[in-house]
Amino acid sequence: METKNWINGEWVTPKNEKVEAYNPGKLSEKVGIVNFSDSSDVKKADIAANSAHKEWKNLNPNVRGSYLSKLADIFEENLDELAELASREMGKPIGEMKGEVNRGVNLFRYYAAEGMRSDGNIIPSSDTEVLQYSQRIPLGVVGIITPWNFPVAIPIWKMAPALICGNTVIWKPAENSVLTATKMAELFEKANLPKGVINLLIGRGRDIGNKILEEANIQCVSFTGSKEVGKHVAEVCARRNIKYQTEKGGKNAAIVMKDANLDKVVPIILSGAFRSAGQKCTATERIIVEKEVFDLLKAKLKEEVTKIKLGYQLEGDTYLGPVVSEDQYKKVTSFVNLAKEDAEVVAEGNNNVNLEGYYVNPLIVTGLDKDHSLLKDEVFGPLSVIVPVSDYKEAIQLCNDSEFGLSASIFTNDLNKAHAFLNEVEVGMARVNQETAGVEYQAPFGGLKNSSSHTREQGQAALDFYSEIKTCAIKYSL
Ligand code: NAD
Repeated sequence: METKNWINGEWVTPKNEKVEAYNPGKLSEKVGIVNFSDSSDVKKADIAANSAHKEWKNLNPNVRGSYLSKLADIFEENLDELAELASREMGKPIGEMKGEVNRGVNLFRYYAAEGMRSDGNIIPSSDTEVLQYSQRIPLGVVGIITPWNFPVAIPIWKMAPALICGNTVIWKPAENSVLTATKMAELFEKANLPKGVINLLIGRGRDIGNKILEEANIQCVSFTGSKEVGKHVAEVCARRNIKYQTEKGGKNAAIVMKDANLDKVVPIILSGAFRSAGQKCTATERIIVEKEVFDLLKAKLKEEVTKIKLGYQLEGDTYLGPVVSEDQYKKVTSFVNLAKEDAEVVAEGNNNVNLEGYYVNPLIVTGLDKDHSLLKDEVFGPLSVIVPVSDYKEAIQLCNDSEFGLSASIFTNDLNKAHAFLNEVEVGMARVNQETAGVEYQAPFGGLKNSSSHTREQGQAALDFYSEIKTCAIKYSL
C-alpha cells in the first residue's frame, strides 16, 4: 500500500519525499510506502475545504447526519481490515485496535443523531412581542492535527462533531499512522461525501502541519499530541485569532487505599498502565498507595507483571505490543535506564526483548524522590512508579503535584474518600475503582492544567467547540 492525499474528492500522490514504513512489531515486514506532501498541496486542500464549506454548512443537518450514519456502517463493514492495517502500522495489539475502530463507529453514530437534536435555546426577552433565541453556527474550515497512538478514534472524535456542526475539514495525521489515514480516506470516499468536505494531507508536522497552522484559511484547529507542539499550536492560533483546542499529555495517578481489594485492583492498574504499551495519554504512570498495603501490592504486581507476554499478534489480548517507532523506543528506553539507575525495581516483565521489533518490557519501580523526573515527566511507555504514602491527605497532595491534570483514579470502598477524591482531584477525568484510561465516547474527554487548552472533546462538549453561538431576536410586531 502507498499513501496518497485525498483532496477535493480526488487522489493525488504527493511528490515531496518517499519513505518506507515497517511494522514496529516485526521489522522485516514492510507495511507500505509513505509519500509526503509539499506546500502546494496545502493550498489545494485549503481551496477545496473553503469551497465545499459554502454548500455543506447549508445542508439540512439531518442530511449531514445521514452521511455520518453511512460512514458508521462503512467503518463497521471494514472494521477487521482497517484494524489489521493500523495494528501493523503502529503496533497496537489487534484486539485493542478492533476496539478502537468500534469506538470510531460509535462516535459516527452518536454525532449522526445530533443532526436531529436541538441546536439552540429560546431566551426570554425583556421587551414585548420579541422572539429571542440562540443558534449554533459552524466555524468554517477546521484544521485537524492528530497523533499516532489512536490512529482511528482520535481523528473520528474530532471530525464527526466538526462535520455535523457544518464545518469542513483539512486533516493532517501523524507521520506514523498515515497508511491507516489513507485507508480511512478510502472509506470516506465510499460514503460519497461531497467533494472537499474532508481533505487528507500526508506530511511532516513541522512542515505541512505548520503550513496549515500558519497559512491555511481555517477558522479553528483541533490538535492532539505533545505539550511542546501543543504550545506552538496555541501560540499561532492566538496570534491569528483562530479558535483552538490542544489536548496534550498526562502523568496520571492511581491511588490505592488500604481498604481496597488488591486482587481486583491489580489487573485494573496493569491494564491502565500497560495496554497499548503505555502509549495512552491517560495511562497510569504513577501508583500511589497507603503504606499499610505497600508491600502486599508490590508482591501482587510482581506476580502479575511477570506473566505479561510481549509479542506481535498473539492469541488473546493479554500481551504487550511494541512501541511505535525507533525514536519512541529510544525515548522510552532512556527512561527505563534512568529508572534502573535511580530506583528500586518492583516488577519487570520476564520476557525476551530480542523480538524482532521495538519491544519494551513492562516495568514498575519505587524509591524515588517526589521531584524526580520519573514522577514528573510523561514517559508514554510501559513504565510506572509506585509511591507509598501515610494517608489519603498525602495521597491527594501527591496526585495533584503535577503540571498535568488529565485523568486519575482512586481504589476504595470508602464512600467518603471516594467523594473527597472526586471533589479534590485536579484532573479533567476522575474515576473511582476504574482505571485511569478508558473514558467512554459519549462523555467529555480532556484535562486541566497543562494537559489541555481547557476545552473538551467527545460528547456534547465537542459540539460547543466546533460551533459558535449566534443570538437572534425578532420583534414580530412593529
Ligand atoms: P506530536 O506532538 O509529536 O505530534 C502530534 C501531531 O502534530 C502530528 O500529526 C505531528 O505531525 C504534528 N506536528 C508536529 N510538529 C508540528 C508543528 N510544528 N506544527 C503543526 N503540527 C505539528 O505528538 P505524538 O508523538 O504524535 O503523540 C504523542 C503525544 O500525544 C503524547 O504526549 C500524548 O500524551 C499525547 N496525546 C494526548 C491525548 C489527549 O487527548 N490528551 C491523546 C493522545 C495522545
